[in-house]
Amino acid sequence: MKAALLKGLNHFEVEEIRQPVPREYEILVAVKAAGICGSDIHKMQNEWKYDLPMVMGHEFSGVVEAIGDRVKKVSVGDRVAIAPLIPCHDCLYCDSGKYQLCENYTMIGSHRYGGFEEFVTVPEENVINIGKNISFEEAAMIEPLAVAAHGVMGLDPKIGDTVAVFGLGTIGILTVQWLRLTGVKKIIGIDIDSNKIIEAEKYGVTDTINSLEESLVDRIFELTDNIGVDIAIECAGSKITEEQCLLITKKGGVIGYQGIAYSDVLLHQTAFENIFRREYTINGFWNSYSAPFPGKEWVHSAQFIEQGKINLKDLISHRYDLIDIQKAFNLTVNREETYNKVMIFPEGRKEEKNNEGCFKTSPRL
Ligand SMILES: [Zn+2]
Ligand SMILES: [Zn+2]
Repeated sequence: MKAALLKGLNHFEVEEIRQPVPREYEILVAVKAAGICGSDIHKMQNEWKYDLPMVMGHEFSGVVEAIGDRVKKVSVGDRVAIAPLIPCHDCLYCDSGKYQLCENYTMIGSHRYGGFEEFVTVPEENVINIGKNISFEEAAMIEPLAVAAHGVMGLDPKIGDTVAVFGLGTIGILTVQWLRLTGVKKIIGIDIDSNKIIEAEKYGVTDTINSLEESLVDRIFELTDNIGVDIAIECAGSKITEEQCLLITKKGGVIGYQGIAYSDVLLHQTAFENIFRREYTINGFWNSYSAPFPGKEWVHSAQFIEQGKINLKDLISHRYDLIDIQKAFNLTVNREETYNKVMIFPEGRKEEKNNEGCFKTSPRL
């Protein structure tokens, strides 16, 4: 079978390797679609802390090809999405159902082979049955949708609230879509990429701010009768926006941090003093899990997709065959064009490609 092996920083080779065999509590999945995550791009380009070669890919879906002897809840032929965290079930945090904080976890796609290959083995408990009505592309996006759900559920927005969302990439847009379903009054989308801002208007932002082109703080106070937002959610992962959250939230407001800055975040005096002078509640959100594993984030994500309440299809900007995975990652590194979710198809596809190896049309999956 074909697998995209990461062999060094931003160096993939697609090779024939032996097809894995599921152990007694595992299943074998024929991967149909696998998304590239922002964290994949950072890790494979800057600091790979795991074994090499490795098969990345922690956002994927497929069909169950075979099952281990002790698998009970999954059958051959099931259409499934995969939750990539394998918790230890033996630490303080696992014991209290906080699997996202597990001290000893294994992650599919970094510690063990993930979705950028034709067949992958995963534990039975990591499987979400997606039924017949969710496409494989949509199912491959349950993971980022569950990440967005974890943050929004933790912030618990109220009907009528005004919420600012920093960063209108995949997680930001999915956060906007969850927020719209909660009944908040205003969703203010903030980014520095005007293409992303225009795109975000499709998904339910009520106001947008390009913080490169206009004064963020002035505009927020203008939009909120000089009060500030009830909730600020940071999904951009920039040291600048991490601080800006502390400038635009109202007294007694709530701030949620989800984006990874990958750098030191330094706070000016005003921003830091606002934490206590304005009595902020600051929450961090990591990953997408809760009890019972993998959690309500995953169950509700699949249900809401099936009900047609979340639009995922339009978020996929580029699609590649597995053999063109290097081109797909180069696109994200070179940043020559705006991209959102980039999807990889391990089985290969028949549709026409352009010169860069990118498919023109969406697949019939
Ligand atoms: Zn991810
Ligand atoms: Zn644990």
